[in-house]
Amino acid sequence: MQSVTFDAVTKRYGDTLAIDGVSLAVAAGSFVALVGTSGSGKSTLLKTVNRLVLPDSGHVLIDGVDVAAGPAPALRRRIGYVFQSIGLFPHMTVAQNIAIGLRIAGVPEGGRVAELLDLVELPRDVAARMPDALSGGQRQRVGIARALAPGATLLLLDEALGALDPVTRDSLGNAIRALHDRLGLTTILVTHDMAEALLLADRVLVMQAGRIVADATPAELVRGGGGQAAQALVAVPRAQAELLGELTR
Ligand code: ADP
Ligand code: MG
Repeated sequence: MQSVTFDAVTKRYGDTLAIDGVSLAVAAGSFVALVGTSGSGKSTLLKTVNRLVLPDSGHVLIDGVDVAAGPAPALRRRIGYVFQSIGLFPHMTVAQNIAIGLRIAGVPEGGRVAELLDLVELPRDVAARMPDALSGGQRQRVGIARALAPGATLLLLDEALGALDPVTRDSLGNAIRALHDRLGLTTILVTHDMAEALLLADRVLVMQAGRIVADATPAELVRGGGGQAAQALVAVPRAQAELLGELTR
């Protein structure tokens, strides 16, 4: 469980201002969703946490300590990072893929692979399988198990559910939320899907052109709060829900 603080973080790529002076506090143990259209700066902001992106100015702090202060490998050991096209090593079994995370972190395997499979709700017999013998959803669960292998307490998810079919997406989303609650993680979920954010997060932040333009709870958003930019995104799942409601009438 770790708090994350962004303090006036700015990042440019040439003429593009990807992150425009973001200041934000993510409480330890909270589940925050970062929502916005493509190109709004979500991935860039997320990557400043594990130092895949270095801000031009400003700071990112984990538990009050600047992420730039120590060596990057030690920082990344405490952070699970899962992205859409997570690469499993195709020539290694599921168990070997998960064990790599442990080895990098210098943690002895000693039964942890089985434990991690349980954690992401995969049957233990998938341990001996190769990645191409798994479904997309199962592969993504292995990716999460590997990301958590070192005992990370901060979980960064970048469109981690994006490539999955809706049913798998729903069940993996629920599994991630359960994992967050059970392990007491701090989770930052990046998504372009407002419905996903509303269903999983405690707090929803909307990004637009490198800035946070809305910060509200799912309950506030559903009741019409959070401002115009947020409501423009809420309108999509709302319209779908209303249509479904009409069908059942
Ligand atoms: P999102 O994840 O919300 O889609 P990104 O953080 O990926 O947005 O991108 C924000 C902006 O920064 C976009 O305009 C994108 O084109 C630009 N950008 C992101 N990464 C790079 C990069 N490595 N080089 C140049 N421009 C980049
Ligand atoms: Mg992105």
